[in-house]
Amino acid sequence: MSKVSRTALLKYWGFSSFRPMQEEIVDHVIAGEDTLALLPTGGGKSICFQVPAMVMDGMCLVITPLIALMKDQVQHLKKNGIAAAAIYSGMHYQEMELAYNQAAFNKLKFLYLSPERLVTDRFIDMVKRMKVNLLAVDESHCISQWGYDFRPPYLRIAEIRPYIPDVPVLALTATATPEVVKDIQEKLHFRMPQVFQTSYERKNITYSVIHNADKYGVLFRLFRKLEQGSGIVYVRNRKRTREIADWLTGRGISATYYHAGLDARLRDQRQQSWMSGKFRVMVATNAFGMGIDKPDVRLVVHMDLPDSLEAYFQEAGRAGRDGKQAQTFLIVSEMDVKNLKESFEASFPPLKQIRSVYEALGNFLQIPVGTGKDQRFDFELVKFSKTYNFDVLETYNSLRLLEKEGFLAMSEAENAATKVFIKAKREDLYRFQVEQPAYDGFIKYLLRNFPGILSDFVPVDEMQLASKLQILPQQVSTMLQKLHDLQFLFYSPRKEIPQLVMVSERLASKDLRLSNEVYADRKKSAAKRIQAVIDFVRNDEVCRSVQLLAYFGETHRKRCGKCDVCIKRNSVSVSDVVFQKVRNKLFQLMANRPVPVFEAAGSVEGVSEEKVLEVIRWLTDNGLIIKDKNGYLKSKTQLDIDD
Ligand code: ADP
Ligand code: MG
Repeated sequence: MSKVSRTALLKYWGFSSFRPMQEEIVDHVIAGEDTLALLPTGGGKSICFQVPAMVMDGMCLVITPLIALMKDQVQHLKKNGIAAAAIYSGMHYQEMELAYNQAAFNKLKFLYLSPERLVTDRFIDMVKRMKVNLLAVDESHCISQWGYDFRPPYLRIAEIRPYIPDVPVLALTATATPEVVKDIQEKLHFRMPQVFQTSYERKNITYSVIHNADKYGVLFRLFRKLEQGSGIVYVRNRKRTREIADWLTGRGISATYYHAGLDARLRDQRQQSWMSGKFRVMVATNAFGMGIDKPDVRLVVHMDLPDSLEAYFQEAGRAGRDGKQAQTFLIVSEMDVKNLKESFEASFPPLKQIRSVYEALGNFLQIPVGTGKDQRFDFELVKFSKTYNFDVLETYNSLRLLEKEGFLAMSEAENAATKVFIKAKREDLYRFQVEQPAYDGFIKYLLRNFPGILSDFVPVDEMQLASKLQILPQQVSTMLQKLHDLQFLFYSPRKEIPQLVMVSERLASKDLRLSNEVYADRKKSAAKRIQAVIDFVRNDEVCRSVQLLAYFGETHRKRCGKCDVCIKRNSVSVSDVVFQKVRNKLFQLMANRPVPVFEAAGSVEGVSEEKVLEVIRWLTDNGLIIKDKNGYLKSKTQLDIDD
């Protein structure tokens, strides 16, 4: 088996060897077993389903939640000469049908699907005709309510297993706590539990927390010290991405900014300039990062608290992809915990409010109850909120929740380029060219320069076409529209306005199922996640890396020796083992009553008084225990954390 896989790896991707765990996962999948692969971001999860799919007969179904990523991967595969297509809500109906047909006629090796498409009648009907060899579920933590990015449509993935009974499932994710790991396997109806995992430990990354109200000052000093490589600064607020980028630029540090509210072209441009090193620092919201694999990121700074350690770990983990030393800092000020709690509350509007938003949306878009399925609308959030006197943020959060529940899908100012597919037969086209000489050059140009245009939608840039043909961009659009109306081709113009797609038909308010319990549960687990973040920044006693690893279920890890906690700790000359022993003994004694220093010094068996005193001095210096004026030791916290 392995030899065939390695050949495929080299042939299609040009890689000479597998990365850790990839080969085990590939072998397992080829053997037909259900598998859960837990590899870090950038660890190479795609290869784990792409290689098996290539060496087996038939086609791989890939479920992924993000349309942008889907398009990206399809494009990548096509570039490597592999037939692939994607189906997601809001895409042109004809484009969808084309992909279905290619899949049913065994013309594809990969079909990417957004999860809500999977349970449509059309898909179920078509999947019976497809020769599926593997069901790959990317970002599979989305299936778990306990995960940080739960998406209800993911829950229904297992429903298609009966239609493809012998096909194995491969679930992939980068971040899952032990309870999420278990949940994923259950929800996907694993026949046998099987997890392949590499450690979350990233030895070359140092995670530090800095408590300081002067965040800009800290940020500047960090970047001034950075000699080589590039950096990322994460903030929660879109407006501040720009402020900070300008501020850094004004101080001689080249920076640009990125958030989901920017025009798609601008986003691509910014990303490119940062990737190529034109700008050193990217200041961004969490919209930046998915699928980014820049090797030389040396510094990642968080200016605000993230809302889960999973997200934090992913974002900080964009540092040091090349395996060389990299630093990450989370800068915290007094207000942050309060802000985090507030934004958490805001992201769970009352259910009643969500219902009102849904109801108003139907009226605003003029969708009669029972219709609207798969329809796509231009949608401006601010205008909508104003019309109904809704608070914009609350409305946004309500829509996001409706999206997660699979009722609708929103996209930012659309990243979809104009696309064209010529469906007419060549002879009809030719006749038309003869009759309408004005179109002759135009059609010839399309056929000559877009070789795939007769069999598939291809992206077309109106501006570029116009300049090549020496006409106005507006004329290009007019001609394409005319050809579309005459049914010679499909023209799907690029959209500048944010889009909203109704994934299911508009439901009457009473049929909008939003369960109180599910909602409450989800809120509870989100609260647990932000509490973990708060605990993380407040715990100045346990190595940061050890804390993070413990969160993901890896206990008994060695401290990193380099983070803010470890650096303080390093100034003590006693060994880790002795330090722990003394510390635990002291806390044990202090649990009952204050302990005089002289008594404590002689209380640890097998450790000299000198060493015990050194540890006591360190603990008092760092404010972890208190020595009162009578020389009695008291613990500041009763917490006993075992590192
Ligand atoms: P993930 O989904 O785990 O975050 P990707 O599948 O996107 O990671 O892969 C990250 C990068 O690693 C990609 O650029 C990919 O081409 C590269 N890669 C994956 N496997 C290998 C390998 N065996 N050898 C070299 N590069 C690899
Ligand atoms: Mg991936």
